[in-house]
Amino acid sequence: MRTTLITNSPDETFKAGEDLSHRLQSGDLVLLFGGLGAGKTLFTKGMMHGLGFEVDEVTSPSFALVNLYRTDRFDVYHIDLWRLDASSHSADAVGLEEILENPGAVTIIEWADRLGKYETGNNTVRVTIEGDGDDPRTVDVVTSDRGPVKS
Ligand code: ADP
Ligand code: MG
Repeated sequence: MRTTLITNSPDETFKAGEDLSHRLQSGDLVLLFGGLGAGKTLFTKGMMHGLGFEVDEVTSPSFALVNLYRTDRFDVYHIDLWRLDASSHSADAVGLEEILENPGAVTIIEWADRLGKYETGNNTVRVTIEGDGDDPRTVDVVTSDRGPVKS
């Protein structure tokens, strides 16, 4: 399923993430594409808010590479590949294989283009955010088939 929307403010980008959170299922891998300042972290904050997590604790893990957030619905791994090269080694560098072996977790990856040819599975959600500065953003969300929305 594909949803494309225009967000006209940071709040709307946040809300787009929140909306997606209600459709997430454990085992999902959310790939975030878009340049610096597009809104990947803000969208992630929206998702985490939708999962009942304290948004102030959500940060782009550029140095740590991986953050872990424990929510009532599932553990969420938040990964940022910004500092890594576009190669399958990026996946190795963050231990992605091991992380994805945890079926009860959701994994969110900023700068997912850095994964290069890394093969992702069926539960992949692809989010592409275009636009920068004060301009509106185009937020394109492609999900695999999934069940009813959880509220
Ligand atoms: P990234 O993680 O992609 O590098 P961030 O989420 O850290 O980007 O920052 C996104 C920036 O874009 C924030 O400053 C936010 O206020 C701004 N932003 C997001 N959506 C919009 C929008 N629709 N209109 C204007 N600014 C936006
Ligand atoms: Mg970021």
